[in-house]
Amino acid sequence: MAVPVIPHFINGQRVAPHPDGVTSDVFNPATGEVVAHVKAARTEELNTAVEGAAEAFTSWSRMSLGRRTAVLFAFRELLKKATDDLAALVVREHGKVLDDARGEVGRGLDVVEFACGIPELLKGEYSPQVSTDLDVYSFREPLGVVAGITPFNFPVMVPLWMAPLAIATGNTFVLKPSKQDPSAAVFMAELWKEAGLPDGVFQVIQGGRANISELLVHPDVQAISFVGSTSVAKHIHQVGTAHGKRVQALGGAKNHGVVLPDADPNFAASSMVAAAFGAAGERCMAIATAVVLDEIADDFVASVVAGARKVKVADGMTPGADMGAIISRAARDRIEATIGSAESDGAVIALDGRGWRPADLQDGFFTGPTVIDRVRPGMRAYDEEIFGPVLTVVRVKDLDEAISLINANPYGNGAALFTSSGEAARRFARGIDVGMIGVNVPIPVPVAYHSFGGWKDSLIGESHIYGPEGVAFYTKAKVVTQRWLRPSEGAAASFHFAGASSSAT
Ligand code: NAD
Repeated sequence: MAVPVIPHFINGQRVAPHPDGVTSDVFNPATGEVVAHVKAARTEELNTAVEGAAEAFTSWSRMSLGRRTAVLFAFRELLKKATDDLAALVVREHGKVLDDARGEVGRGLDVVEFACGIPELLKGEYSPQVSTDLDVYSFREPLGVVAGITPFNFPVMVPLWMAPLAIATGNTFVLKPSKQDPSAAVFMAELWKEAGLPDGVFQVIQGGRANISELLVHPDVQAISFVGSTSVAKHIHQVGTAHGKRVQALGGAKNHGVVLPDADPNFAASSMVAAAFGAAGERCMAIATAVVLDEIADDFVASVVAGARKVKVADGMTPGADMGAIISRAARDRIEATIGSAESDGAVIALDGRGWRPADLQDGFFTGPTVIDRVRPGMRAYDEEIFGPVLTVVRVKDLDEAISLINANPYGNGAALFTSSGEAARRFARGIDVGMIGVNVPIPVPVAYHSFGGWKDSLIGESHIYGPEGVAFYTKAKVVTQRWLRPSEGAAASFHFAGASSSAT
């Protein structure tokens, strides 16, 4: 059977890519089979998409809030109804398990629902009579064409961290999804169209680095939202801002989960297993490193190893599966090589997932859960983002050492503390240089009405994503100072500045 080629979605329709576009394979990671091809957009295809979005901006940005909101509500209904189909598509190209893919759609829906409240979010401010007969009001306007560049690990949720708010605030949006799992973007484009979104407001162009280089310098692109690895985030922020664009760039992570002796040991160990091995560790908020006090470390390691042995690893469509395949063969090999480096660096492999494959899926990109004890900074397994089902354990003497360890790490996305002490929780939350903190919550992803973002190398630029910061990112402020007088009341213009109080009469 011929392998399908995934289209772009431009100006309201699927567009077959130019046959000479650079081609990549899209795999089903569970079987290792090529299920589709994706072709990078050529310059003329990218320009058509951006120009279409620029043209659509004129009318979309002027459309009434009521009509814009009606599209968002309709999209919300369609997305909810399509959850299972969209989730199955994610499983097929990403490899995560079906329930987790459904959860990903649900997290995206939360942002759509937040965006449905856009009339309230865009309400401006009005100050009457700031001086005699002088009123000031301020409000926010959209930017124009904005682009989203997204990673492989959440092909539905991350685009939905961006597009609903970008569109609700009156912008038009060009999405460049990951070429490893690009179908969900086209599926969502069709839902937007069915919801009544005018053609050109949500465009999808397929491709990779070369396309991004063109977006970063395109004169019609006003802003870039990026989520992916830190090195790419830094590059995108640097080039995008040098070309006058607003850039929010969320990078990689190395999240720590600290366990104190006063924590519930079973809850802490089982939370750590779920947070390390869920989605095969391919989450930017996965716990990669458990930081455990010496006095409880032996028991903790024994518990997480016991828990990790019970993780059911299978094709993501298998009922009851806890963990699916890794995104690619190359990623699997890199993860297993990093485990090997920890062994050579003197760490203790407490559970070794290397070489593990489900019996019926020997060609799939699998590796089993791995637990590495006695890891220290300076070892590759600690210093690098592994982004796989590997939990490293660092032993420390007390909470202050745990806080120092976290603060010395270049990443600052998320961190969790397991404790029954309010004092310890407060010291931790106030003392660590991390953007999102969980207290007895292993994966503290904020709800849609709070913004999401890390610190340090986990976020380049100023703006967090979605929530109130998302609204601010996709809009710019306008302030009007106005005086309306009867013709007979005209006063002479002043040559001098004056403060409101000194000019008040
Ligand atoms: P990636 O950085 O390789 O790719 C992300 C996007 O950038 C893709 O669309 C890709 O096509 C593009 N890209 C890749 N290399 C590029 C280059 N040299 N120049 C320009 N564009 C390039 O990331 P990934 O492997 O798809 O995703 C995993 C990474 O994303 C991890 O580091 C993970 O921590 C991070 N992530 C972070 C968050 C967050 O909220 N901070 C969320 C999800 C994923």
